[in-house]
Amino acid sequence: MKYPKLRELKEAITALIKGPYTSDYPRKAHQPPERFRGKPEYSNDGCVACAACALVCPARAIEVSDVVTKDKAVRKKMLHLDECHYCGQCSALCTTREDIPPGIKHTTEFDLAGFDRASMVSATDEKELVLCEICRDVITAKAHLAWIAKKLGSLAFSNPTLFISSLKNMGFADDVPQAAKDYVLRPDRIKILCSKCRRKTTIERY
Ligand code: SF4
Ligand code: SF4
Repeated sequence: MKYPKLRELKEAITALIKGPYTSDYPRKAHQPPERFRGKPEYSNDGCVACAACALVCPARAIEVSDVVTKDKAVRKKMLHLDECHYCGQCSALCTTREDIPPGIKHTTEFDLAGFDRASMVSATDEKELVLCEICRDVITAKAHLAWIAKKLGSLAFSNPTLFISSLKNMGFADDVPQAAKDYVLRPDRIKILCSKCRRKTTIERY
C-alpha cells in the first residue's frame, strides 16, 4: 500500500502545480482535441453515395433510401444522430476517406443532447442512381461508378458498365449500341448491367 499512496501524492502535487486535469465545462467552453470523435458530418461533395458507411454502422444510424420511379432514380442518406455511438466506423471505412473532402468525417462538436429526436436527423443531397439496362435493379450511384472509373484509369475499359457510364458522363455514349452491333462479338454484353444480368447474359449465349 505504500507505493500507491506515494503515487497519489505525486499526482496531487502535479495537479497543484499544473492545475486540474478536468475542464471547467459548462462554465467555460471545452475545446476538444483535433482528432476528437464528435458529430459525424457528410460532405455532399466528397460522398459518392456508395452506402458502405451504412453497411458498417453497428448502430444502424445511417439510413439509405433509394427512390426509383419512372422519372427518376436517386439515393439519399439520413444520419440519425440519436442512434449514433460515435464509434468512428463510418469515417474509418468510408470509400472516399482519403479524398479531400472525405465523404464523412467527425467534427469536434459534442454538445448534442436534445429533446426532439426528429431534429437529430440530417439528410444528404440526392445522388443519381445507375440502373441495370435489363432488370432496372440499382447498380450503385453514378458518382460511385465515376469514382471507381477514375481510380482504375485505363483499366476501367475492361468493364462495360464502367466504361459506358464514363462515356455517358462525358456525353460520348450515344453511338455505343450501334458500334457494339457493328464491331463487337458480344453486343449483348456491352451494356450497363447488374452482376446478376451480366452473369445471365454470359450463360444464356454460350
Ligand atoms: S460513428 Fe459509428 S454509430 Fe455513428 S454513424 Fe458512424 S458508424 Fe454509425
Ligand atoms: S462515400 Fe463514404 S460517406 Fe458516402 S456513402 Fe460511401 S462510405 Fe458513406
